[in-house]
Amino acid sequence: MPSISEYHREESESVIPDASGIGGEGVEHSAGRSTVTHSPIGKNFANRPARKCLTCSKSFIPDKETNRFCREKCNIAWWNEQPQHPVIPKVRADHPRALELREQRTQLCLLEKADPFTYGFVPDHWELANKVWAECSELLISGGNRAGKTLWAARRVVETLLSKENCNVLCCHTSNATSVTVQQPAIYQYLPVALKATKKGKIHYLNYSRKNGFTDGSFILPNGSRCDFLNYTQSENTIEGREADLIWCDELVPQSWVDTLRYRLVTRRGKLLVTQTPLEGVASVYKEFTGGAAITEWHGGQMLAGKQGLPTWPVGKAPRVMRLEKQNRSTVFFFSEDNPYNPWDEMKSKLVGAPMGQILTRAYGWASDNIGKAFARFRPETHCIPRSKIPDGGTLYMVCDPAGSRNWYCLWMLVYEDGRKVVVREFPDFTGYGEWALPSEKADGKPGPAQTLEAGRSVIEYRQLFRTIEEEIGRGEPVMRLIDPRAGGSPALSEQGGTTLIDLLAEPSDQDDGMAFIPAPGVPVDQRTAAINSDLSYDVTKPLTSLNEPRLYVVDDLHNLIWCMSEHTGRDGQKGASKDPIDCLGMLLISKIEHVGAGGLDSYGGGGY
Ligand SMILES: [Zn+2]
Repeated sequence: MPSISEYHREESESVIPDASGIGGEGVEHSAGRSTVTHSPIGKNFANRPARKCLTCSKSFIPDKETNRFCREKCNIAWWNEQPQHPVIPKVRADHPRALELREQRTQLCLLEKADPFTYGFVPDHWELANKVWAECSELLISGGNRAGKTLWAARRVVETLLSKENCNVLCCHTSNATSVTVQQPAIYQYLPVALKATKKGKIHYLNYSRKNGFTDGSFILPNGSRCDFLNYTQSENTIEGREADLIWCDELVPQSWVDTLRYRLVTRRGKLLVTQTPLEGVASVYKEFTGGAAITEWHGGQMLAGKQGLPTWPVGKAPRVMRLEKQNRSTVFFFSEDNPYNPWDEMKSKLVGAPMGQILTRAYGWASDNIGKAFARFRPETHCIPRSKIPDGGTLYMVCDPAGSRNWYCLWMLVYEDGRKVVVREFPDFTGYGEWALPSEKADGKPGPAQTLEAGRSVIEYRQLFRTIEEEIGRGEPVMRLIDPRAGGSPALSEQGGTTLIDLLAEPSDQDDGMAFIPAPGVPVDQRTAAINSDLSYDVTKPLTSLNEPRLYVVDDLHNLIWCMSEHTGRDGQKGASKDPIDCLGMLLISKIEHVGAGGLDSYGGGGY
């Protein structure tokens, strides 16, 4: 039995000549009409020998040389009983081997679903990527939306695991949830059927469910090869000590992860594979692969017909392969139109008339103006809601980032039962204090008036300010207040000796009660960025529904936070002017903030709120 691809290449071109005429749909047109217009005892008719109907095998005298069916019903059945397939057209009835081919095609369609590793369709751009992959040590697949990147990579992972004994593969994704819903099923799908059938052996261990993915986030094949699943919200320490033959990072991989992962590849001369849509931000990895790289292959793109994507590009074409010789790094671009399983027409109609930059990114995997922005997927039109639309209920949290001479930047966020989060208030706000950061030659802007206007409040004054703001919000006191661990935990004022800011905030005064703050988890900046991106994400190619929507929203009058989310790059490091609002948001999201139902406060044991 050939694979779908072999069948497609051999049969559909030579043997099924007029595939376009069939269109994969419905009824062959010539057959029905003639039975009505011709008399059943016509002259030509009688001379024709009887033949068997292709569908029901009944013997009949054809009224026309091309007729293969005893009646119209059998003609319709011939077409409708053949399964749909995006690549191989249905078999025409007038083909000399029609019955045989139809059976083969039907069986292949079933086999492709059951055993895609052996029988699945391998499109041309996958073959090209295979070739490039074989020749480099690091590969970036930069693809348009739904261009088939994840499936291609999942196939490479399974191939590597099967290729030799005791192989180690690490697969990394944005969060545990996306690992389970995107990455793990893609790999499970490509595992050979025989391996899926048995769960445990002397060496191998493989237990998978759609709901939870692979048990313990890993599996071991009978040849001793092992596959582990990690995600960017985990500590980078998780990576330490693992030697790998292949590491696959899907979407949003923070630069610091890539840097650490490279060390895990040294001893086994392993390979690094990154798959992403450049739209999704964390662009420094993309730059690492494409910056200064030579474009070695161009391919035509439907949406570029008669146009130049960039002034230096050939008309009608987009880059297909890029190469950084010195680092042995390559990039292959997957176009959305390459994937026959993708509803391309739908996507195309959405992009018609869009700015060229957007077309290049979404359909051809080429990043231009989004490059460098930490939250390129943040879109005010999607992620911002008017104050009047804040849903009822929700659990209130607050976070603050104290700084000596500047104002403390603070955020308040509501968390809902369904996991949605809405940032409802910031301090200092634009209306009262102006901009927190302003555009400048620096990547992360320069400090605006809000950083210093009326700065220098005492701890008691801050407590009073927070209480006033929380009265305005009208949802009671926050169930938890977080504080930057470095500022909150280090000795605050010299005359108080070893007293920390957290101690001072908790200490009651003559005028008011103390306020309990807890230090937010101390995690690297990249992990905070990943957490924000993860909550901003949704499938941009599909309509927004309750099943496909971001988890994070910002009320549209929080201008300072919104500006920083739109412009922040992280390139100015600790000194970045737009950094504090991003830090605050990241601290909230990295903490286990959850909706707390009625009476649920007790479950926060040890709280003291
Ligand atoms: Zn029939």
